[in-house]
Amino acid sequence: MTPNPRESATPSRQPAAGSAASVPDAGSVPAAVCRTPRAPLTADVVKATAEKHGVCTRPFTMEVADNTTGELRFVPVPCGSTVESVCLPCARKAKALRQQQCREGWHRDTEPETAPAEAPSEAHTELLEFRADLVARFRELTGAEQLDGEGQA
Ligand SMILES: [Zn+2]
Repeated sequence: MTPNPRESATPSRQPAAGSAASVPDAGSVPAAVCRTPRAPLTADVVKATAEKHGVCTRPFTMEVADNTTGELRFVPVPCGSTVESVCLPCARKAKALRQQQCREGWHRDTEPETAPAEAPSEAHTELLEFRADLVARFRELTGAEQLDGEGQA
């Protein structure tokens, strides 16, 4: 039987009688922190916290441009991993999504039959021509046609 390391370490943590003022109070520091070989790394703490809250542990950033203002900003995006050892929260979300897809019948080995699309009727083509004429007239009146070449409308 091996001795319990916590019990054997306890006497050495007691401050000497004359040095009580310089040694921090042993009761203020949790015993588990004092006895671990090393404190957890910051990255480990961040990963554990992310897993606790169910968010991605290794998100990557994507640059997003606002087309109206031209402003660039960075948006964090989940990694989307399906492997638990890589990213536990993303793998759990992916697993739940696959389970939902199976319940909805995404696992079918035959495609459901769909009715073929009807050929466009005369009314459909007339409506589309009328819309094109309206857009052309609108561009004529507003001068938007010149701006289209610059990507601004
Ligand atoms: Zn992830």
